[in-house]
Amino acid sequence: MVVELVSVGTELLLGNIVNTNASFLAEKCAALGLACYYQTVVGDNEERLIDTLKLALSRSDVVILCGGLGPTPDDLTKETAAKVMQMPLVEDIYTKKRIEEYFKNSQWKVIPDNNWKQAFVPKGAKVVDNNNGTAPGIIMEKNEKVVILLPGPPNELIPMFNQGIAPYLNSLQPEIIYSKMVKLVGIGESQVADEISDLIENQSNPTIATYAKTGEVHLRITAKAKDEESAKKLIKPMVKELKQRFGVNIYSTKEEETLEAATVALLQKYNLSLTTAESCTGGLLSGRLVNVPGVSKVLKQGFITYSDKAKRKLLDVNKSTLKMYGAVSEETVKEMAKGGIFATDSDICLAVTGIAGPDGGTAEKPVGLVYIGCYIKDKIFVKKYEFKGNREKIREYAVVRALDLLRRCILEQYS
Ligand code: ATP
Ligand code: MG
Repeated sequence: MVVELVSVGTELLLGNIVNTNASFLAEKCAALGLACYYQTVVGDNEERLIDTLKLALSRSDVVILCGGLGPTPDDLTKETAAKVMQMPLVEDIYTKKRIEEYFKNSQWKVIPDNNWKQAFVPKGAKVVDNNNGTAPGIIMEKNEKVVILLPGPPNELIPMFNQGIAPYLNSLQPEIIYSKMVKLVGIGESQVADEISDLIENQSNPTIATYAKTGEVHLRITAKAKDEESAKKLIKPMVKELKQRFGVNIYSTKEEETLEAATVALLQKYNLSLTTAESCTGGLLSGRLVNVPGVSKVLKQGFITYSDKAKRKLLDVNKSTLKMYGAVSEETVKEMAKGGIFATDSDICLAVTGIAGPDGGTAEKPVGLVYIGCYIKDKIFVKKYEFKGNREKIREYAVVRALDLLRRCILEQYS
C-alpha cells in the first residue's frame, strides 16, 4: 500500500516552522510497512491544495494531510479535502459535545464562535478523537482511496496518530506490521552494524533497521504477521539475541522511553538521590533529567559552575588543582563530583567539564575534550572523551555520555 504525505501551511513554506510532522509520519509509516514515494508541502491556499490532493490521490492509496484543521478561516484543509472527495460537511453531534467538554475543562470556559466549525465533518467520514485539542482527526474513504486529516500541532498529531491512525492503517493491510525498538548507547553505529551483520544478511521476517541518533543507536525490529500476537512471537527471539550481544549497552526496549527516562527509572528503582555539577554543558544535563516526570523524587540539585571561582566556591574544588591541572582535567572533574556530594549529601554526583569550543582549544587540550565524573558509593569513576563536531554537538554528546556513565555506574554498583 502506498501512502503520501501532504503538509499544509504557509508557515512551513516560509521556513518559519520546521516540518517535524512529516518526519514523524514518514518514520511511522515506514515502520508500519507502508511505501511512501512523495511528500509535499503546500501553503494555506485552496486552489493549490486541490491540485496537490488530486495529484496525490492519482498515485497513492492513502493521503495523509496535516495542518489547517484549526478554527480560523485560513484553516481550510478539511473544507478543501471534503470538496475534492465530494463528501459534504455535516455537523457531528459527538464532536460538538467533545468540543463543549474540552472548553468546560479549559481555562477559557466560553467557546469562541469559530470553534463550532470544527464540529463539521465530511459526511460518512470516520472521526478520530483528539484528546489534546478541539480539531478531530478525520478519515475519508471513497473509491478505494483514503484521505486522512490530522491537526498541525505535534502534541495533538502524535498521540492521535499512535492511538487512532496507526491501528487503522494496520487494519487496511492483509498482514499487520509490528515493530519493537531496541535502544543502545555507548557504542558506535558502525560497531553495532558489524556485530549484527550476520543477522542483517540473513534477515527476512523479522527485519532489523539501524538508526543513528546523537550518541545513541536505535534498532527497529519489524515483523509481518496475521496478528499482533504472532508478530510478537517472531520478534521475541531476535530481541533476546540482541540482548545477549549488546548487554549493558541496551538501555531500553520501549519505543517511547528516552535515555534520561531510563536513567531516572534506575535512580528510582534503587532509591538514589542525584546532584549534577556542570561546567561546559551549562545545565543541559539537568535539563535533560528534568524532562522526565517524577524526577523530583531523585534529583536534588544542579550546579552550573562555569567559572573557576564558582567551582571553588560551590564545589570546593582546590585552587591548586585548577592551577596545576586546569578546569578541564580528570583531577578537577573528580573534585567537582566529590564537592557536589558534600554540598548536598546526595548518593550520587555526576560532574562534567570540557571544552565546547569553538575557541579555547590547544594542542594538548583540543576542542571537544570532555571529562565526566561520577561519584557513587564513595568511589569516583571518570571518563575522558574527545568529541568531534560543533559546540552544540559536543555539549549534546557530553550529556548523552554523562547519562550513560551514570546508568552504568548504578547498574555496576547496585544490581
Ligand atoms: P490550530 O488549531 O493550532 O490552528 P491546525 O491544525 O490548523 O491547528 P496549523 O494551523 O497548520 O494547524 O498549525 C498550527 C501549529 O502547529 C503551527 O503553528 C506549528 O506550531 C504546528 N505545526 C503545523 N504543521 C506542522 C508541521 N508540519 N510540523 C511541525 N509542526 C507543525
Ligand atoms: Mg491553524
